Amino acid sequence: MNKNQSCEPCANEMLTLARTNKFETVWDRYEQQLPQCGFGLLGVCCRLCWKGPCRVNPVGDGPDQGVCGADVHTIVARNLIRGIAAGTAAHSDHGRHIAKTLLEMSEGHAPDYIIKDQEKLHGIAARLNISLDGKEHNQLLREIALKSLEDFSRQDEKIPCAWLESTIPEVRLAKLTALGVAPHNIDASIADIMARTHVGTDADPANLLLAGLRGSLADYTGMYLATELSDALFGTPEPVVTSANLGVIKANCVNIAVNGHNPLLSEFVCDMAAELNDEAIQAGADGGINVVGVCCTGNEVLMRRGIPLATNYLSQELPILTGALDAIVVDVQCIMPSLGKLSECFHTKLITTMSSCKIPGATHIEFQTQTAKESSREIIRLAIAAYKRRDHDKVNIPQHSSTVIGGFSAEAVVGALSKLDANDPLKPLLDNIVNGNIQGVALFAGCNTPKVPQDQAYLTIAKELAKRNVLLLATGCGAGAFAKAGMMTMEATEEFAGDSLKAVLRAIGEAAGLNGPLPLVLHMGSCVDNTRAVSLAVALANKIGVDLDQLPVVASAPECMSEKALAIGTWAVSLGFPTHLGVIPQVMGSSVVVDVLTEKTKDLTGGYFIVETDPQAAAQKIYTAIQERRQLLGI
Ligand code: SF4
Ligand code: SF4
Repeated sequence: MNKNQSCEPCANEMLTLARTNKFETVWDRYEQQLPQCGFGLLGVCCRLCWKGPCRVNPVGDGPDQGVCGADVHTIVARNLIRGIAAGTAAHSDHGRHIAKTLLEMSEGHAPDYIIKDQEKLHGIAARLNISLDGKEHNQLLREIALKSLEDFSRQDEKIPCAWLESTIPEVRLAKLTALGVAPHNIDASIADIMARTHVGTDADPANLLLAGLRGSLADYTGMYLATELSDALFGTPEPVVTSANLGVIKANCVNIAVNGHNPLLSEFVCDMAAELNDEAIQAGADGGINVVGVCCTGNEVLMRRGIPLATNYLSQELPILTGALDAIVVDVQCIMPSLGKLSECFHTKLITTMSSCKIPGATHIEFQTQTAKESSREIIRLAIAAYKRRDHDKVNIPQHSSTVIGGFSAEAVVGALSKLDANDPLKPLLDNIVNGNIQGVALFAGCNTPKVPQDQAYLTIAKELAKRNVLLLATGCGAGAFAKAGMMTMEATEEFAGDSLKAVLRAIGEAAGLNGPLPLVLHMGSCVDNTRAVSLAVALANKIGVDLDQLPVVASAPECMSEKALAIGTWAVSLGFPTHLGVIPQVMGSSVVVDVLTEKTKDLTGGYFIVETDPQAAAQKIYTAIQERRQLLGI
């Protein structure tokens, strides 16, 4: 077992098997890259034009500018905001896909989809100032879809995106507008970053970083509408009990993993799995079909349907190594290309489904919203056919899995609180923050990276904060880490929560009929669902009439890796939250950029980045940030 690779037992069991059988994993490829390029790590290399690549030496022993004269601060800032633009593009494209599906539904072109949460749909209409009066269902869908898509097409720069304006406190919107960073159009914000970072355009690091803040808020906008419209379509999550880790794969079942981010497909894979269960049994799998989740598609189906989670981002190759995974069905984002080659070593079918995400070695079944059920049936039948080729002598499934209580949408949290105070559900939470029973709230988000032992920083920081009575929320692969480790259980609350936090979680859990406390870490969904936590923070801020940067609320991404995480972290800072990064970002070559991100933004937005790679020290810094907020609030 190599604890420098992963801190959890299933992953280590599979990694031992991989080494024995010479199957290459992400950890091996990371080793092959070492030592990684120092210029790249500092963010000081530029490949924006073919006069380069240029590498600036940040310590003064070599060229201090690129061929065009760009200095290190310009280069680092440009690289950084291009990453934000890419993250924003990924999230908002997901949101656009959902909004366009709503439009197709209104026109009768997506017959398999229905609105499962009518109340949420009406809430969205109210948020977007769309009247319900006398409207046919399809007309309402159409207006909501078009109003959401307007956030991708508006040309009037004075009008902020509707999904931004309607979801943050007025005082925050005024601050962002005054700074010139409230986006009017998601796509235009991305295009603006690409245009101003073209060779010979914006060279002012401060001006570049402001465009990055605007881009990140476009990311927030796209994420918010993606989550809310998905809830209307597929249901708003409610507490659900399931399990996590590789032990959820079953030897006697046709096992199908759904991996990626977008619920438009995975919801139907789950439905059609139930419909075709008998075909799997006839094929010899007496347990029928077992759908499991990986990464954030896994979180989507866990939250809404209680589908068990096999694993999170970094260990997505390992389910294939069990020899019992018959198909892995992927949509978009955070899917390792290595799955193609690795699946060819087994009977496993890798199935790509989106035109923007094809992988050598995969079978491509183009997913169309017009034929969602039929595409899903085709996928499941491929999995059943693969099962017939499974070599049962090669099956090696780790036997460990943990219980998970998931499904904590903002509505579910408010619903649980309402059992304590039906007239004023937020009052019990607020009272306990004010009296110090809950010192603050920490949202864990982000990815995994082989640069640190998988999941370990999440668990260490969370345990440290829990004993200091900080309420813990999690999304994305952070939520996956907690799920696998049994931290989303009542038992974890009893074991790790400080006394006053434990008392509050017990009171809420008992009142909500859970026969025990709320879990130690509340699972709020996939990484696109981080806005669920913001909606709670905004409700608290509005209730006491303060801005978001006054709340004792922090964000932490201990193992961040993707450009999407970069965009999320930057909008968290833009909204006013102290935001911890546990992996050193590729900006350290510029003292100006570092100073803006960790200090100057305190004056601009109230938020700032805390960079700390040591989990114990990070927990202390996060707790200190919470205490500073409490002192400023006088509580
Ligand atoms: S482009 Fe940058 S990161 Fe890549 S090899 Fe060159 S200097 Fe290193
Ligand atoms: S834009 Fe300037 S710094 Fe970048 S590669 Fe071209 S010449 Fe070099």
